[in-house]
Amino acid sequence: MKLIKDEAIREAYSYDATGMRGLPEGVFFPKSVEEVKEAVLYCRSKDLKVVPRGGGTGFVGGSVPLKGSVVVSLEKMRNVLDVDDKNMVVVVEPGVITAELQRTVKKFGLMYPPDPSSLESCTIGGNVATNAGGPRAVKYGVTADYVKGLEVVLGTGEIYSNMARVKKKVVGLNITPVFVGSEGTLGIVTKVLLKLVPLPETASFMLVAFKKLEDAGDAISKVMSLSFSPSALEIMDITSIRCVRKYKSIDVPEWAEAVILVEVDGFEEGVKRQVDVLKGLFAEYKAEIMESEEEKVWAARRAISPSLMSIAPTKINEDVTVPVSRLADALKGYRTVSERYGIPIVCFGHAGDGNIHVNIMTDKDDPVMWEKALKATKEVFIITVALGGVLSGEHGIGLTKRPYLGLQVPSSHLDLYRRLKAAFDPDNIMNPGKKF
Ligand SMILES: Cc1cc2nc3c(=O)[nH]c(=O)nc-3n(C[C@H](O)[C@H](O)[C@H](O)COP(=O)(O)OP(=O)(O)OC[C@H]3O[C@@H](n4cnc5c(N)ncnc54)[C@H](O)[C@@H]3O)c2cc1C
Repeated sequence: MKLIKDEAIREAYSYDATGMRGLPEGVFFPKSVEEVKEAVLYCRSKDLKVVPRGGGTGFVGGSVPLKGSVVVSLEKMRNVLDVDDKNMVVVVEPGVITAELQRTVKKFGLMYPPDPSSLESCTIGGNVATNAGGPRAVKYGVTADYVKGLEVVLGTGEIYSNMARVKKKVVGLNITPVFVGSEGTLGIVTKVLLKLVPLPETASFMLVAFKKLEDAGDAISKVMSLSFSPSALEIMDITSIRCVRKYKSIDVPEWAEAVILVEVDGFEEGVKRQVDVLKGLFAEYKAEIMESEEEKVWAARRAISPSLMSIAPTKINEDVTVPVSRLADALKGYRTVSERYGIPIVCFGHAGDGNIHVNIMTDKDDPVMWEKALKATKEVFIITVALGGVLSGEHGIGLTKRPYLGLQVPSSHLDLYRRLKAAFDPDNIMNPGKKF
């Protein structure tokens, strides 16, 4: 396998969705686990760093090469190897696009629930490495809840594999979960054994408009304490609605400060009953249930992130998560920060699990605005941690959140992480400088 050093290819693999750039020394395109191993051993022998790369849709600079790095792109390893419907699992290569996997297993009457909004371009390997989530996480969980086994090429070039298709295993140390969310810092995922679930019989969807943002936050925490869980519960604040309106038609009244998107699924009768309960709850807030076309609304929801660029040239996109009972306090706190600094802060996201995309809109080329935005970002994190929340619910830490890690993680933990990494990657060649 050749290391591609062509200038245009190196350029094409120099960035991710943050827009950060770093030119790699070259790019490998392995087609098998043996070739991945070859790439790692080559880098080890030449004292080069390894940056694993899936779809390059990451939001924290995880696949952006630092100096002296080689990108290992998994895009040519994109086969769904075995849909095992009897054991309700599937074995995939890391470069499989998430939406393609979902379409494949649907033909078997099965569902792979994790559904990041980038699902048409991100890969399963990237999802494993970032522990990706999506709207369905509120009921079905995140990628970690589906990873039953992995094959990984470690920083030493050794292959770790734990792919038994069993429901229970208590043999050896349970190392597999350590790789999930490790952002390519321990090894390269080359095969994944994923759990599947039955496709629900039916689903019902509602778009609900609230006069006050805090009421929407409060209603969400009430929904989450009901005796059933919605299969999606998303929030859009007024600025996200305005932005997305420029690109997608979405009927929301002018008076609404926030809308929530709720979906319930299951058996026909159960779904009807859940819808009645939700209508009763929303009526307490005098919220309005809108007539809406589900597909259009989801398309609008997925378009929010890119559409924000119409407000300001740069967005600092954070994905903080708070306990759902503190959601209303968090939204209020972020609004106060926005008012204090005079900077638009747009909030939307997977509110049912307390995961809010807080977008601080700024201009990197304007030093005054940029300085203000960095201060506002730090305050958003401080509020989040004070409410018992975490710096990231799904995007990870990568490069962009590293400066803030100390707000949450004590240095004794960082030391422990480094010692653990050394067991998998003693020469520190796997994506160093990212995550911690
Ligand atoms: C419009 C948009 C919407 C998004 N919505 C969501 C969302 O709803 N939920 C969510 O969780 N994220 C979301 N994201 C972020 C992003 O899509 C996820 O983090 C995704 O999991 C990244 O997958 P990828 O294949 O693009 O990985 P990349 O960006 O290529 O890499 C991400 C990280 O994973 C590592 N990596 C990649 N492949 C491997 C591998 N095989 N082995 C080891 N390490 C590897 C990389 O080194 C890097 O650290 C969104 C991004 C965009 C642009």
